[in-house]
Amino acid sequence: MSDCIFCKIAAGEMPSNKVLETENVLVFHDIAPAAKVHVLVIPKKHIASLNDITEEDASLMGEVLLAAKQAAETLGIADSGYRVINNIGSDGGQVVHHIHFHVLGGEKLGALVG
Ligand code: IMP
Repeated sequence: MSDCIFCKIAAGEMPSNKVLETENVLVFHDIAPAAKVHVLVIPKKHIASLNDITEEDASLMGEVLLAAKQAAETLGIADSGYRVINNIGSDGGQVVHHIHFHVLGGEKLGALVG
């Protein structure tokens, strides 16, 4: 999508601080980190949100989760623990409408529920 900021980052048309890249997935540091470690995992394919994935995207979404795990290992937060968040739509707090998973860690995170 031509006006999508994450599509531009995926295409290398906008800079990002990359953690890892595969053929279909990119992981880069969030520009406004909400924790000591805060990266975003995106499929290079434009999908607006989790509401828009189809059966066709099942394997790709698996690659996205594998990249989240690999990024956590690369960043040294896998053993101590971390959080993966996907915001969907306005009530979910989604601001960028290209599906992305936040990986947060590097410190003790506050409880979201419970
Ligand atoms: P959302 O609220 O789940 O849509 O999260 C969007 C995230 O994208 C926010 O945490 C922003 O800080 C982050 N973000 C927006 N623009 C950029 C950018 O150009 N580079 C890296 N992160 C970005």
